[in-house]
Amino acid sequence: MRLPRFEYSGPNTLEKALDLLATHREDAKILAGGTDLLVRMKKGLLTPKFLISLKALNELSYIKEDTDGIKIGARTPLADIIASDLIQKKAPALSEACRKVGAVTIQHYRGTIGGNILQDNRCFHYNQSDFHRSGRQACHKDGGKICYARDVSDRCNSTCQSDGATALMALGAKLVLAGKGHQRIVNLENFYTTDGIAPFALEAHELLTQILIPEGCDRSAYQRLAYRSAIDYPIVCAGVLLKASDTQKDEIADARIVVGAMGRSPLFLAKASSLLKGKKYRDLEAFRTAAKAAMDSAEPFAVHNVGATLEYRCAMVSQMVFKALEQAACAAVG
Ligand SMILES: Cc1cc2nc3c(=O)[nH]c(=O)nc-3n(C[C@H](O)[C@H](O)[C@H](O)COP(=O)(O)OP(=O)(O)OC[C@H]3O[C@@H](n4cnc5c(N)ncnc54)[C@H](O)[C@@H]3O)c2cc1C
Ligand code: SF4
Repeated sequence: MRLPRFEYSGPNTLEKALDLLATHREDAKILAGGTDLLVRMKKGLLTPKFLISLKALNELSYIKEDTDGIKIGARTPLADIIASDLIQKKAPALSEACRKVGAVTIQHYRGTIGGNILQDNRCFHYNQSDFHRSGRQACHKDGGKICYARDVSDRCNSTCQSDGATALMALGAKLVLAGKGHQRIVNLENFYTTDGIAPFALEAHELLTQILIPEGCDRSAYQRLAYRSAIDYPIVCAGVLLKASDTQKDEIADARIVVGAMGRSPLFLAKASSLLKGKKYRDLEAFRTAAKAAMDSAEPFAVHNVGATLEYRCAMVSQMVFKALEQAACAAVG
């Protein structure tokens, strides 16, 4: 498989990158590590005329902490996040999620956190070569009017399999998006559309510059299930955050349960999360109840399009959530 032809630019300042994006808009794509983008281009899934590389934008590669929490530049390599003691200590769910991405070669060679969040949604009916897809009627994402993953659907149900986004949503992270002359901050939870063809609420002239993780994420954990321990994307994953009460240290004041690889975006499950409020860190029965509620809430969003059977993936949601809750609670009570 060969890459299609494209023009390339590698600006060395954010300002120049935003100028290029404002000029080329829909014709351009951002190239971070390329481990998602270039694979899709080789498969003929997209043919951008212009690539804007972030390779020389060192100003977008950092991990730092201030009074607002932790700030991570969008071009920060996954390897730097894995190696960061700060992330390991204060946002362990993210550290674990990055450790699980693909393979060591992806984490250490090129993959970035921005690219991880913004990787395209996936579906085994679609993420195939041109040749494979040419043998049958096009689905919504290929410009057609049907969906192979759901019998009656007016839209694409491709699945978000980002490990990083699932963990970050559990942490209540925000994204800083910049365009020429403007900047806005959105909650990761509100960053998704309901259409797998264009899953992100990101304008063509906008770039992700920074990820903000609030204070108080040290009791967090991440679990995932994949066919193999390397190379494979998650078929179910869960990120959780448990917050301690100011007065009762052994009590959960607030919780966030997020399930990934089960829908068009990671799913923040508010009802299941609320079941943990006021419970003790050692209350395994409460964890089981919340994990079962998470499974029931996530099930309607999933379709059979990322491997394993849908029944198996649904059943595994409660397992992943329970394991993650147990792990986060262990960090709290030691
Ligand atoms: C074999 C294989 C296994 C993989 N397994 C996993 C896995 O288990 N879990 C997982 O989460 N991922 C997995 N991936 C996907 C991918 O490798 C990682 O998600 C990686 O972190 C993507 O980062 P990147 O910098 O290479 O992204 P790129 O490919 O450079 O970019 C991905 C997308 O994001 C856009 N983009 C990137 N940065 C920005 C920015 N700052 N602003 C705006 N748009 C931007 C690009 O235009 C592109 O559309 C796998 C990939 C492969 C090939
Ligand atoms: S979910 Fe449906 S429309 Fe979307 S890529 Fe898969 S088959 Fe195509």
